[in-house]
Order: sequence, then C-alpha cells, then structure tokens
Amino acid sequence: QKQKFMITTFCHGLDMLIGGRGIALGQITEFCGVPGVGKTQLGIQLSVNVQIPRSMSGAEGEAIYIDTEGSFIVQRVVEIANGTIEKLNESSDGKNDLPLDLETVLSRIHYFRAHDYIELLALIKIMDQFLKEHRTVKLIVIDSIAFPFRQNFSDMMLRTRLLNMIAQDLAIIAESFEIAVVLLNQMTTRFGNSGNSDKVTLVPALGDSFNNKCPNQIILYWREDMRFAHLVKSASSQEATVQYQITTSGIRD
Ligand code: ATP
Ligand code: MG
Repeated sequence: QKQKFMITTFCHGLDMLIGGRGIALGQITEFCGVPGVGKTQLGIQLSVNVQIPRSMSGAEGEAIYIDTEGSFIVQRVVEIANGTIEKLNESSDGKNDLPLDLETVLSRIHYFRAHDYIELLALIKIMDQFLKEHRTVKLIVIDSIAFPFRQNFSDMMLRTRLLNMIAQDLAIIAESFEIAVVLLNQMTTRFGNSGNSDKVTLVPALGDSFNNKCPNQIILYWREDMRFAHLVKSASSQEATVQYQITTSGIRD
C-alpha cells in the first residue's frame, strides 16, 4: 500500500488535531484567524517542513508560497528553517548526514507575490504548467486568500464567482498533483447571529459559499497569552481544540 505522506507542523497537538501526523497531501486545508495569531508563521513553518526527507517521515517536497499581503520576511524564514534543521539533527542523533542545509531549504521555497486579485487569479491559472515543470512541489500556501478580495470589491456577485472558481481550481490542483493546498484566511464580523440581531461574532472571511468548498477548516485564536487551534471541520477528524506556541524557532507544542 502506498504510504501517505504528511507535513508536520512541529506542534504534536496540532498534528493530531488535523489527522494524526500533520497536513494531508491532496487536499485543501484552511486556517483562519485574527491578525497576529500566527497564520504566516504556520505558512512558513509548513513551507520548510514539507522538505523533511522521507527517511524521517517527511514529504520530501518543495513549496510554493503565494504572498498577497507582503508579509513573507526572509529573516523569519531563516530562523524557522534553522529551527527545523536543528530539530532534525537532534532526532537523527548524529547518525545521518545533515539531511538539509539552510541554502537548500530556502531554494526549495518558490515565492510569488500577488499584489491584487487579478495577479492571484493569473498565478492560479499558470500553476498547472508550473507544477508540471516542478514535480517535487508538495505544498502551496496562499497567504492570504482573503486580502485581495477585501479591498475595493464592489461587485459581490463577481467576487463570489471568482472565489468559487479559485476553490475549484485549487481542489483540482491538490488532487491531481497530490499536493497540500493551505489557505490562510482572515476573520470578519457578522451581525445578528442565531436570531439575536445585536450579537456580533467573528467568522472566517470570504463567505459561506467559499468556506463550504474547503473540506478542512481550522480557526486559530488567542485567549489571554495562549494560542489555540480549533478544528471546525475535517475530512478525517473530530471537532476539537488544542494549544500551540510560536517560538523563535517556529511553531511548537
Ligand atoms: P496577519 O493577519 O496580520 O497576517 P498572522 O496571523 O499572519 O497575522 P503572524 O505574522 O503569523 O500573524 O504572527 C505574528 C506573531 O508571531 C507575533 O505577534 C509574534 O507573537 C510571533 N512571532 C513572530 N516572530 C517571532 C519570533 N521571532 N519569535 C517568537 N515569536 C514570533
Ligand atoms: Mg500574516
């Protein structure tokens, strides 16, 4: 039987939450949360960790990072990459050769900047061709999917249509190339939830139609100075909540 490769987050609780050993290939997984909660940190962590060799139960792939917000900071990627390299060296116990070095890790993250939704749509359209030329890519991160659709979008019908098209294109890409697609999403306020018109709640941005198309959805949130991940829906796991941390070296338990 073919072994299922996953992408570890380096937070055991979070890995367990989303199916046991991390993010599954072949599917879309959406992480939603307020500013500063750690979406970009997680996106970077996964872009590094997708490269973990198969001998260490990794997916041994490359990453595509589509940045719509301009928040991909190379210095931070270096810190997280060094954290991963250190952790792999510890667990290999000095028996193996260095599994990864910093330069290699950085060269295996293909970075794209999309300044608006037109550029994002164009990138998704050429993705098929890019992936045919880069067969080792095992992860696509979009940071964030919401941002380009939140400014100056007057035509809400068009917005819904484009978002549905993106969700569909990404689902096909994920499945046909056996790639993990990770969407980072913002939160938006909704008024009058559950019959109470005064109630204000935070819900994932982009609307129900889009969110319904994502089979795996996790909400990241803060309570005091602790960070939590709540699994809203999943193809394989039960609804649950776990704690995670962001350290200098990246995402941890
Ligand atoms: P936004 O919606 O604004 O993009 P985000 O969810 O992407 O927010 P991140 O940028 O991923 O948020 O997280 C920022 C947080 O990560 C900081 O507030 C800080 O707590 C933590 N962080 C960033 N760098 C480090 C570091 N070097 N060491 C420890 N924690 C860090
Ligand atoms: Mg961010």
